[in-house]
Amino acid sequence: GSETTTPHVAVLVSPGMGHIIPLLEFTKRLAVDHGCHVSFLNITFEASAAQIQLLHSANLPPSLHVIDLPPADVTSGLVTEDTPILTRLCLIVQENLKCLKSVLLSLDNLPKALVIDMFCTQAFDVCEELSIPVYSFFTASPTLLSFSLYLPTLDTEVIDCQFVDLPEPVQVPGCSPVRTEDLPDPVRNRKIDEYKWYLFHVSRLLLASGIFLNAWEDLEPATVRAIRENPFYHQVINTPPVYTVGPIIKDTETVSESESGSQCLRWLDKQPRNSVVFVALGSGGTLTAQQITEVAWGLELSKQRFIWVIRAPSDGSPSGTFFNAGGEANSNEPASFLPEGFLERTKDMGLVVPSWAPQMAVLRHEATGAFWSHCGWNSTLESVANGVPMIAWPLYAEQRMNATVLEEDIGVAVKPVVEAGKEVVTRDEIERVVRMMIEGEERKAMRCRAEELKESVAKALSSPGGSSFESLSRVVKEWKAQV
Ligand code: UDP
Repeated sequence: GSETTTPHVAVLVSPGMGHIIPLLEFTKRLAVDHGCHVSFLNITFEASAAQIQLLHSANLPPSLHVIDLPPADVTSGLVTEDTPILTRLCLIVQENLKCLKSVLLSLDNLPKALVIDMFCTQAFDVCEELSIPVYSFFTASPTLLSFSLYLPTLDTEVIDCQFVDLPEPVQVPGCSPVRTEDLPDPVRNRKIDEYKWYLFHVSRLLLASGIFLNAWEDLEPATVRAIRENPFYHQVINTPPVYTVGPIIKDTETVSESESGSQCLRWLDKQPRNSVVFVALGSGGTLTAQQITEVAWGLELSKQRFIWVIRAPSDGSPSGTFFNAGGEANSNEPASFLPEGFLERTKDMGLVVPSWAPQMAVLRHEATGAFWSHCGWNSTLESVANGVPMIAWPLYAEQRMNATVLEEDIGVAVKPVVEAGKEVVTRDEIERVVRMMIEGEERKAMRCRAEELKESVAKALSSPGGSSFESLSRVVKEWKAQV
């Protein structure tokens, strides 16, 4: 094959907007910037309205084809309301991937490579049979990657207790120690299926021909260097090449279609520069009724401007809308669960948006001064790439780990203090951090750092020459050269 051919590549994604958004963006870059023809294989189970709109948008490049996998039957008692989020996700994926071989064989020509996200590793077995190299796209941070590569070793070294009960932080080779309270949800209880699934998938990272990391050379540089240079990774466990290709985030957002989306942007147009706190908790984040009350009072008492993407309270899991993100805007009546009179009293200062906002466009807007975030990795990248400092309020998955890295290593975030023995962050604390992030002295250093990172993002992505651009380009060249 010559370098001028258009290689066919397939991309396989697991459910959830936090996976679909970056993998779709990655696919667009392969198609638009790197001359690939891409089949985007999508699992349709419990697809939300926002997801369907995203994947069936008219703006996708012509060389990108979204292919819905035939729906599998996951209803027969496999998952229930109480199944932890990752177990649920992994079971859905497992059932849906039973048709992967026939789907790959039905494509016009067999792909030169398959890129999968972290929870689709059953694909390794199928692709081995078909001799298709598989690359992993890691949708989370360098810190989680190093931890995950180390996890199988940790699992054999610690035999008699839970990791959360270890007396010392976990010393991941070459990296900052991970405090036990920051350990990701799926590894907090080693006795349940969620842990077994996580361990299963991350053990198989080593089967990949390469790992794409959604970060760039200057974000967590020490961790990226450790993964490349520390002998544990390349001599002991044989980590495949790691390519920093990020940040892979949305570049544009079609907001005209959604009423509340364009309302957000029109409202922002009327606010002073750097004056608004944007409160949004990812695709899955939900709060308890009591916590919603405290946030409302905290925002009101702070007397600062805000946009609050709000969802109905959930007293169960803090990831209540993960599988149905942006899907229930109409059934969500904020007035019914906000303190009485809140909407009226704050109508000149704030905007309450049910369920879903055009986050990237809001973060890019110059009126936005701080992002109150659950620290999902995509939200983190979007904030940093736009130079917006964060209030870090982790809720689920690996977000506690991200929040600590953001505050202590990267220096662009502050964590609200939770009083000992309390389950909620109080209104006084919320008032304090919101004020500090908009008008306090402390915000200056964080904003400077965020601005610095914004510039380093532009550099990494520039074409030609940017480190992230060139690293992806190198891999595509290898695909093109394959016969
Ligand atoms: N998002 C959005 N509007 C919202 C909430 C979320 O556009 O109101 C997008 C956000 O921009 C990000 C993704 O949904 O790209 C959430 O991914 P993240 O990794 O931050 O969190 P997760 O949803 O996986 O917990």
